[in-house]
Parts: sequence; C-alpha cells; structure tokens
Amino acid sequence: MKLHDSLTRRTRRFEPLRPGRVTVYGCGPTVYDFAHIGNFRTFAVYDLLHRYLRWRGHEVDFVVNFTDVDDKTITGAADAGLRLAEHTETFVKAFLDDAKTLGFLPFSGHPRATAHIPAMVAFVEGLVERGSAYLAADGSVYYAVTSFDRYGRLSGKGGEDGAGRARIDAEDFEKRDPRDFALWKPAQAADREVGAVWDSPWGPGRPGWHLECSVMATSLLGDTIDIHLGGEDLLFPHHENEIAQSEAATGEPFARFWVHVKHLKVDARKMSKSLGNFHTVRELLDEGYDPAAIRWTLLSAHHRSELNFTRDGLDDATAAVQRLVDFRRRLRDSPASRGDGRGLAARAAEHLAAFGRALDDDLNVPRATAALWTLVKEVNTELDGAGGRVARTDREAVLGALAEMDAVLGVVGLAESSRKVAGADEERVQTLVEAREQARAARDFATADRIRDELAAEGIRLEDTPGGTRWTRVRTGP
Ligand code: AMP
Ligand code: ZN
Repeated sequence: MKLHDSLTRRTRRFEPLRPGRVTVYGCGPTVYDFAHIGNFRTFAVYDLLHRYLRWRGHEVDFVVNFTDVDDKTITGAADAGLRLAEHTETFVKAFLDDAKTLGFLPFSGHPRATAHIPAMVAFVEGLVERGSAYLAADGSVYYAVTSFDRYGRLSGKGGEDGAGRARIDAEDFEKRDPRDFALWKPAQAADREVGAVWDSPWGPGRPGWHLECSVMATSLLGDTIDIHLGGEDLLFPHHENEIAQSEAATGEPFARFWVHVKHLKVDARKMSKSLGNFHTVRELLDEGYDPAAIRWTLLSAHHRSELNFTRDGLDDATAAVQRLVDFRRRLRDSPASRGDGRGLAARAAEHLAAFGRALDDDLNVPRATAALWTLVKEVNTELDGAGGRVARTDREAVLGALAEMDAVLGVVGLAESSRKVAGADEERVQTLVEAREQARAARDFATADRIRDELAAEGIRLEDTPGGTRWTRVRTGP
C-alpha cells in the first residue's frame, strides 16, 4: 500500500511498524455542538481507512478522541448553564449516533480528554524537566518552541516571525517566543463555573488542546504511531505542536504517516460553523436523504481533492446507490441459466483486483469505484443479452466481488438495511403494484393511474415490461 504523507510531502510505501498491527490516531470531534457533514467528510475517510486496513488483513488499533475540554466546550457549557460533562455528553452521543447512521465500523476506542488529565500533567512535568517547557508569570506552562529544532517541518511555518499567526494575544506578553503555546492554563472564572478545573503542580487549571491529543495518542498507542489523521486545518498549529511535544517527551518519531483530509466546501467556501453554511447529518435525514447517499457523497472525491457539497451531488449519489441496490437485487433474483458460465467470474475477479489496486494507491476511491461501475455495466449487458439469466457460478462470483467491494465502501449494505427500517413497506408496495396490474387487466385505468400516482408521490417509479411491472425507488420517502 502507498499513502501520501504530509510530513515528507511524498506518497510512500506503507508498512506497519509492528507487522500485522496498525496503530492509527484520528483527531476527533470537539463535542460542543453537532458535527456537520464537513466534519463527517473527514471522519468518513477515517472509516474508509479503517475498513481498508482490515480488508487487507491487518489488525487495527484505531483511536478517535473526543475533545471534551477546550475554550468552545467551556463557553458552550457556560452558555447552556450546564456542567462541562453534561454539556459534552449530548454531543458525544450525537456523534456516535451519526457515525452509526453513516455505517462506520466501531473504532477501537474514543478516549475523552477529561479522562486522561493525570497523564497530561505527568507529560508536562516531563517536558518542564527536560527544558522543553516553562512556567510563566501568569501561571500557564508554555512549550518552548526554540527548544525543538524540527519545529515547522510539517507545516513549513516554523519561522520566528510567527508566520501563520492570525493575531497577537495578551498571553504573548507572558511567552518567551510568540510561537510558544500553552500546555497548561490556570483556572479562570468560567472554568470554575462549569467544573473544568483540575489540580496540578502549577495550581488548579486545565490542559491545552494540543497536549490532549499527544497524551491520548502516545498513552494508548505507544510513542510512535503508524498513521495520524485529521482535517487539513489541523496541520498547523495543532499537528505541528503535537509533533513538537511528543517527540520532545519521548525522544522517538511521533507518527510515521500524516494524512490530511481536504475540507468539504459549499458554494466554493469551507463548510463551517462560523460561516453558518453547514448541514448536519440529521438535517439531511429529515429532508429524506438516505444515509448511504450521504456516505457515498462524502467519499466520492479523493481525500486530497476538492469536494463541493450540493444537493445535485446528493441526488446523483442517491441515484448511484439505487443503481447498486437494483443491480444486486437483479442479480440475486435472476433465474439460473443452464450450462457453463460466460466468463463473468473471471471478469469479477479482474475488476475486484483493479478495485484493490486503486485503494492501495493512496486510497484512490474514484478509481476504485470506476472498477465497480465497469463490473456493473458488463454484467448488466450480459444479463440483457441472456434474457436476464446467468449461470450460478457467475452469479455467485459477481455477488461475491460486489460484497468484497462493499466491505470497504459500505454503501450497498447500508442502503439495504436503512430500507429495511422502512421495511414493511416493500410488501405494501408489491401489493399495490399487483392491484394495479389487476386493474389494468380489467381495463379499470382510473384505478390503475391512481395507484401509479400514489406510488410516484412516495418516490416509487413503475416500469411496465413484458415480464410484468418492475418498481424502483427513485428517492426515499417524502
Ligand atoms: P472539530 O470538531 O472542529 O475539532 O473538527 C473535527 C474534524 O473535522 C477535524 O479533523 C477538522 O479538521 C475537520 N473539519 C472541520 N471542518 C471541515 C470541513 N469543512 N471539511 C472537512 N473536515 C472538516
Ligand atoms: Zn488532535
């Protein structure tokens, strides 16, 4: 497998440090609000990588944290008049629900920053002892960037002019260097109000955000992890600072591969809370979109390429998922032909191999799905030519290849199961379709049309073929 690494800026061959076992850390949601589908573009790539690594036979330790103490969670709790833990719990649950809705495999663990405070304190003590951090007059402990000569290697923003900094804060007067960042912050009134205060050798306070990830990653996965993930905005300063802290503390390389996911955009602008141009998974579900279509949309572009969110895109994804579901159903229900197969098994194997090669090449999903569509097209053509019949061996091979591909993409199974929820439905539709056929046979066209319109209103399209009426769902419910 080859993976693009943001640190070396190269696409390199990936082998886990310990054979057979891959360690991955992904920066998780800040649980102060519902995650939007921009966040979920990044998280969907986490799930894709997770599924892919397992598909390739690795054991995977995949940790995604919850940032449950930082400025935003504290302000959010104070505004809601809640304790910090009460406030964040709502959004932890929401994230887990949304992840399930989108068909994510369960990750190995979701550490909460607040559950690792003693380890964070010990980590900072180690940095102070090594001369990598210092206590300032305001009671904060800062990381001394000048003590780490590789600072800036990831982002190229290591310059002493403080490149990449948006503004000068009051705390800058406390620092030895404007690039220094807080590892530990002394308790403020708002922190006390919501219960975001812990003891430390430097007095009551709370950890800095960058520190949280370094400590959770190294204490759960070891000093050197195989892959570290995050959205592109985290590259600087978050990940730059994680490297500086972790490598100063352990003396070992922190992460062997850095994978960054490009931001989801809306109308060419970043989808974000502050711009107010965001959608949540639950909003899209309320509008009637299928979870599998949302998932397909989020995975439709390569993770280092632009992806622009539009409703047209979501409609296209709905149609694509529908096509796959129909394809599987057609194949599953096709009558067996007599005689030998017609080479579909070999073609299924060939396209499955191409699918795997595309993912081996820096998780190239668009190329992988192109292999999937070629398979669908070839098999459909074959079925059309053979009156819808297929040899049993061919059918099993194609269904097997489709299942293998879907083990990574995770859309067909998801679409089928989400339809099952609306499930009883299927029988009712079938009954109505038959009632309409009878009405037509009796030349009662008024009844037949009324049934057709009723089904159309539910997003179900009928197609009258010589073999009977076929129905497909063009969209899920109103
Ligand atoms: P946050 O909850 O703000 O800590 O963000 C959680 C994750 O979502 C981080 O990895 C961010 O980089 C990522 N993220 C934020 N906005 C977007 C976006 N518009 N598109 C993709 N990823 C995003
Ligand atoms: Zn992080």
